[in-house]
Amino acid sequence: MCIFCEIIEGNIPSKKVYEDDKFLAILDISQTTKGHTLVMPKKHYDNFLAMPTDEFQELMGKAKEISEKIIPSLGANGCNVLINTNAVAGQSVMHTHVHIIPRYDENDTIRFLFQENKYDLDEVLRSMEL
Ligand code: 5GP
Ligand code: ZN
Repeated sequence: MCIFCEIIEGNIPSKKVYEDDKFLAILDISQTTKGHTLVMPKKHYDNFLAMPTDEFQELMGKAKEISEKIIPSLGANGCNVLINTNAVAGQSVMHTHVHIIPRYDENDTIRFLFQENKYDLDEVLRSMEL
């Protein structure tokens, strides 16, 4: 059983932010910022691509509802909502989860670097085969 399934089962303690029959939200142990929260489905999926679309939509709806409540109550001014998918993207727990990272100050140390484009956009579009 994965570590988040163990938490969902109550075998490993966690600080619960929200729980219903399908979803659990807990404080991330790392607290990247105050209130850093993880929202997860109780059913194990390795990543969001493995989830049925309706369940993923429900998960994101839940992440929005939780964000709407915790951002103002924490006194935060915004948030980053993030899903790491597979090890290459930094996923370390293979039970899909949405990070809600409250943001308080534009001068904090968290940065997502979107670097200068080095690709031909038309070639990129052709590669995407949508
Ligand atoms: P990922 O890197 O997979 O996107 O995120 C996994 C997150 O889970 C990390 O931010 C890490 O701090 C958090 N985490 C790992 N183990 C535990 C744990 O046992 N309890 C809690 N609350 N968070 C955990
Ligand atoms: Zn799991």
